[in-house]
Amino acid sequence: MTGGELRQRFLDYFRKNGHTVVRSSPLVPAQDPTLLFTSAGMVQFKSVFLGEERRDYVRAATAQKCVRAGGKHNDLENVGRTARHHTFFEMLGNFSFGDYFKDDAIKYCWELLTRELGLPKDRLKATVFQDDDDAFALWKKVTGMGDDRILRLGEADNFWAMGDTGPCGPCSEIHFHQGDHIACAEEQAGRRCLGPACECDRWLEIWNLVFMQFNRDASGIMTPLPKPSIDTGMGLERIAAVMQGKTSNFDTDLLHPLIAHVERLSKKRYGADVEHDVSMRVVADHARAAAFLISDGVTPSNEWRGYVLRRIMRRAMRHGRMLGLVEPFLWDVTKTVVDILGGAYPEIAEQHSRVAETVKLEEERFAETLDLGMARIREYLEAHAKELNRVVDGRFLFTLYDTHGFPTDLAQEVFQDAGWTVPAESLAAFEAEMDAQRERARAGASFGATDGGERSVAIYQQLSAQLPKPAFLGYRELAAPARILAMVAEGQRRPQARAGDTVEVILDRTPAYAESGGQMGDTGTLVGREGQGRIEDTYYRGAQLIVHRVKVTQGQLTENEEVAVSVESRRRQGLRLHHTGTHLLHAALRRILGMHVTQAGSLVAPDHLRFDFSHGAGLKDGEVDKVEELVNEQVQANIVVSPAEMDLQEALKSGAMALFGEKYGDRVRVIKIGDFSTELCGGTHLDATGQIGLFKVVSEGAVASGVRRIEAVTGEEALKHVGREEVALRESAGLLKIPPLELPHRLQKLLEEQKQLEKQLAQLEARLAKGRAQELVAAAREVAVVPVIAARLDGLDPDGLRSVVDTLRERLPSGVICLGGVVEGKVHLVASVSKDLTKRFQAGKLVQEIAQAVGGKGGGRPDLAQGGGPEPSKLDAALGAVAGWVERGAKG
Ligand SMILES: [Zn+2]
Ligand SMILES: [Zn+2]
Repeated sequence: MTGGELRQRFLDYFRKNGHTVVRSSPLVPAQDPTLLFTSAGMVQFKSVFLGEERRDYVRAATAQKCVRAGGKHNDLENVGRTARHHTFFEMLGNFSFGDYFKDDAIKYCWELLTRELGLPKDRLKATVFQDDDDAFALWKKVTGMGDDRILRLGEADNFWAMGDTGPCGPCSEIHFHQGDHIACAEEQAGRRCLGPACECDRWLEIWNLVFMQFNRDASGIMTPLPKPSIDTGMGLERIAAVMQGKTSNFDTDLLHPLIAHVERLSKKRYGADVEHDVSMRVVADHARAAAFLISDGVTPSNEWRGYVLRRIMRRAMRHGRMLGLVEPFLWDVTKTVVDILGGAYPEIAEQHSRVAETVKLEEERFAETLDLGMARIREYLEAHAKELNRVVDGRFLFTLYDTHGFPTDLAQEVFQDAGWTVPAESLAAFEAEMDAQRERARAGASFGATDGGERSVAIYQQLSAQLPKPAFLGYRELAAPARILAMVAEGQRRPQARAGDTVEVILDRTPAYAESGGQMGDTGTLVGREGQGRIEDTYYRGAQLIVHRVKVTQGQLTENEEVAVSVESRRRQGLRLHHTGTHLLHAALRRILGMHVTQAGSLVAPDHLRFDFSHGAGLKDGEVDKVEELVNEQVQANIVVSPAEMDLQEALKSGAMALFGEKYGDRVRVIKIGDFSTELCGGTHLDATGQIGLFKVVSEGAVASGVRRIEAVTGEEALKHVGREEVALRESAGLLKIPPLELPHRLQKLLEEQKQLEKQLAQLEARLAKGRAQELVAAAREVAVVPVIAARLDGLDPDGLRSVVDTLRERLPSGVICLGGVVEGKVHLVASVSKDLTKRFQAGKLVQEIAQAVGGKGGGRPDLAQGGGPEPSKLDAALGAVAGWVERGAKG
């Protein structure tokens, strides 16, 4: 049975038993920003289990894509070294939300394994939590297994909890006997194999049933849940291995084609060399993780999810090198991932070009670093080969990182593979070097700077160290008194600025918002005792210094003086409208298109907003309308926009959307729009969504592969936009003298009529040309026994002239034809000579001569040629010369 059939069999079985088959949720968990990746089937149902959300089904089954790497399940180093560790895997699961409990869960499990999949009963054993007598009794009753086949295990193995508090309960596992020939570490150490309780694969755990039975409070007391639930999980790769009689997941049809792909690329055979086998498994596993993570919107970066992805890809690249793969190869292996899993998960097929591009780019970028770093590590290992304790010097890790950008975690793994250790002291030495380096960078920046740009960087670094961080008052105030702390122009402090000068002004406090988070900076005015200036822009410099670019318009401004600062309120209002509009749009896109949508870029301007987001395909018909409608519903509901300050962890826990790649401090600001949107954001927002009035999408399109862009307007700008469209509509309707709403219908009719008319016109023209042709043939002259037609037909373009010539050729099998005509002040000429005469007369030469006579050029084949010229007044004379040309030719 193939892995694909197995997946389908599982889902079909549970569908048949009243379960709703639910699609796999994305790998980036939508509900839980604190969770790195979706790591189990229950993740998408967490709020249902917690009773916070109701669905229209109480039984569900899924095949869930999962990634375990980084964070709690950090066993990346093991992947490739064992038969079963994966970063990416599929989890089959059935769920009951307060519906059936242990009884049916055990029944379904047993029936599926023994009847549907036909596993022999005598090779199965169950484990239960030591105190769970119910489960023990049920296993006996349902399966007929004896007491010796049902093991009671402790809390570590058979008790599950969602967290320190919340739902928890005993679980029960079913194990499959693969055989006692499989290696067991216990036995190798001279002890007895522990059977299903053993770490070895002799008794392979294949399915885990969790009985969510209790709610644990903060003091640890467990009370029974009113509606106990079921959550189960069975790794598809594992059960596929069992069904296919393989002792390694990598030998199943879900993974082996990837190994085969690597064999082809590397020209090495799997099974021939232990280290090469590890590398092939690493590449096979990591290609799957990379393909799935990228198609779910994760991009390689230096932070969080993006970093885990980057680490996975770089680890694969290193193992590729060990197989002799020097050119980018991982992107190519992802094709096989699509071949194997593109049917079950269409998103990886749809997004494959973006996946391949992303992987290849990362491979190209990292290649040099990888080669240099590995060479340095080899040198280090050679130089220290005689050392006995084999402890890596943290300072060497720093040099690797500092001079080559070689990632420290990858270096650690390389050293560990070579039998070296990287203890905490080494890492501390590494950190100390990093700190010293940062210090040197800070010091170096204030001196030795040369050009204006660098000098400007230097002065702001200096000022950030000297000045207090300016207070931002602009969430509440649009005007406030403040003191000028410093003024800067061309990288130098200026104690004073005069009318006409442009200076950058730093105040102790300001109502002006500095450009950040996509929102443009404020403009406004600054009034002192002896002068005033216009704030043209506000932005951050140095470490969070708010800088106002001020053009002094009158008198002078002086350091340390008190000034009145005010923000241009109309512009600010426009920014607020479009910023709140942006949050609504972001949330609406996720609801309509799916939770994989993440912000890729944003501009909040006073008169429009631009929002870039990751989404593989173009938006379908009606999707933009749906998004717009959903946003406008939120506008009409006039939801209060509530900002709050809280700890980052608290914010993430409350479900706030954080932007990956953004840096957040420990205290963050959260903008909550009812239940519709929660985002970490420092921007300025409306008090309630109703102020938007109207939200209107102006355009939607692609900006880069996998990235779409929406431009939209709100408030007055939206009304203006609609107004402009209405005027155009009214004017169009006015031209047709019909009500505007009849336009589409009428236009369609007009277009049909036009098509009809064009057809008739073409027929008429053809008939006309035929008629003229007849006249012309009748008027043909014989010159030296050669029939000659030379005539003028105005109003025909070269194509029209040629079609007349074609008709003439049919009626005048032997002869010379030259037609000329004038269109918009230009002469067009077409000449033709029948084949029997082309030895004596060439159409190309004829046109050349006639065209010269009208001041132009021409040429072509001996039997057909065309030309033209700018002097219509000479056309008649030129055509008159055709007969003479033929006569001369006949004599010559
Ligand atoms: Zn064992
Ligand atoms: Zn925002």
